[in-house]
Amino acid sequence: MEKNFILFGPPGAGKGTQAKMISKRFEVLHLSTGDMIREAKDDPVFAPYLTSGQLVPDQIIVDMVEKRLQREDCKSGFLLDGFPRTLFQAEELDKFLKKMNRKITEVFCIEVPEEDIIKRLSGRRVCPACGGSFNLVLKPSKKEGVCDFCGAKLVQRKDDNPDTIKERLDVYKKQTEILIEYYTKAGNIVRVDGTLSPEQVFEKIENFVNNNIK
Ligand SMILES: [Zn+2]
Repeated sequence: MEKNFILFGPPGAGKGTQAKMISKRFEVLHLSTGDMIREAKDDPVFAPYLTSGQLVPDQIIVDMVEKRLQREDCKSGFLLDGFPRTLFQAEELDKFLKKMNRKITEVFCIEVPEEDIIKRLSGRRVCPACGGSFNLVLKPSKKEGVCDFCGAKLVQRKDDNPDTIKERLDVYKKQTEILIEYYTKAGNIVRVDGTLSPEQVFEKIENFVNNNIK
């Protein structure tokens, strides 16, 4: 069976790490719409939205993803990350795949309790000098507040404070609730416990795929 996946997960759930591992292990193309939009920043279709900070309209995102999915490297499977974000996008995606005689095989949803996310994200520390990244909880630097690589003083990103994190989580919850309902009805949601280590989370996903998608 084709491996056409979608990956959901709140900020701080380790979605990027899982996406890389899934893509490598199952040889499916990782399509991050966030990356695609950033790469298209000079494209006349996207530029006006990106420079003004406005949301890119649904239809433009849908067109971008559909165009990308028609390329040869998506034939054997793909992993969508950051898409769909709205019910419209999800429905359009289904219609499009149906025309190509394909469908979404599985939707992986990494779940982490809110208080864990807040702990994880508010513990993030970055080095302004060399870009090194640390975490008070998950990956502490050898000496507190000091970069392991270059000795500079570590700082906290502005959007990693608890209030902003809470806002980001609320946006995520509001966006995904309806999508999770949509894919639950379709019968292909797989909930994954994101409080485990990245390796354990991946093992769960890997076992699921090996046992269910032949
Ligand atoms: Zn550094």
